[in-house]
Amino acid sequence: MAWFAQSHRPLPWKGEKDPYLIWLSEIILQQTRVAQGLPYFERFRKQYPTVQQLADAPQDEVMKLWEGLGYYSRARNLHAAAQYIAGELDGRFPDTYEGIRQLKGVGPYTAAAIASFAFGLPHAVLDGNVFRVLSRFFAIETPVDTVAGKKAFAALAQELLDTSQPGPYNQAIMDFGATLCTPQSPACPACPLRSACKALGEDKVGALPIKSKKIKKRQRFFHYLVIGHQGNTLLNKRTGKDIWQNLYEFPLLELPHPSRNESEIRNSTLWRQLLSGQEAAISRVSPPYQQLLTHQKIMASFWEVSLPAEAPLNSGQFLAVNQKNLSTFAFPKIISQYLNQAQLTLF
Ligand code: SF4
Repeated sequence: MAWFAQSHRPLPWKGEKDPYLIWLSEIILQQTRVAQGLPYFERFRKQYPTVQQLADAPQDEVMKLWEGLGYYSRARNLHAAAQYIAGELDGRFPDTYEGIRQLKGVGPYTAAAIASFAFGLPHAVLDGNVFRVLSRFFAIETPVDTVAGKKAFAALAQELLDTSQPGPYNQAIMDFGATLCTPQSPACPACPLRSACKALGEDKVGALPIKSKKIKKRQRFFHYLVIGHQGNTLLNKRTGKDIWQNLYEFPLLELPHPSRNESEIRNSTLWRQLLSGQEAAISRVSPPYQQLLTHQKIMASFWEVSLPAEAPLNSGQFLAVNQKNLSTFAFPKIISQYLNQAQLTLF
């Protein structure tokens, strides 16, 4: 706490008491570095200063504002929770841990953070920073990603909490982990806890915390048809139970392998559905783009297809969108990257 009082980072949400803004910052910072999350927080705060304004916003607008931040379920949950607060709770942000935990997308960590920062309630936070600080300081070798590990660390964190000032205590331990006791090269020589730190004494700093599982990523190969027809192209909104729900994409052919083989694409059901009998020419195939998600590795190729203006286009369930309006849609990062680099000229 003494260290925190002297060296804490100036962040726009520090000292904030409005539970709505604290919630917003916590959701934005889940799985996101502070430097990346900051401009998004500022944008959301400006566009939706109150929970009611967020609740009233169209979902596509919220998704667009979130574009590029990843883990899009956070934006959908944020919007749904704002509507729940505005509708069911008369616009009053819940002021108990249990009430906050009811909000969509709020887990135990976020609920503890909001409860302690906004309402001074005695709930200890447990995020990656806290796991790391505790496992090193006490040299605990229980894996942090097991049920037993989570339970033990949660009990320890709660026991250590300064219940007279839970908000500053929680912020202090998280900041300590984020800036001093960092994953790689922690600043042990300058650390105020070094004389009592067991991991440092036992030369185990680099080995802690221990994780039991390695995440195995599933590889997926996306082939997008970027069809140019009279200045328009086709888009689809992803609605299934899969990644990127409610974001937009070009007509997608998913194959179990990468492909540069034109006839494989031309023989697909998707091609036949959209382009059968047409004089469609593949004018370019992009180099593969890659996006890493927590559990998946996506490789995407963009097949640019041009159709003569007089040819009829059977757009089916897809939206025909003018090229000039593409920037108003929220896309997954891999498609935004392609659009930024490709400088599409559709006809
Ligand atoms: S001495 Fe090093 S490992 Fe121990 S708490 Fe401080 S920064 Fe972390």
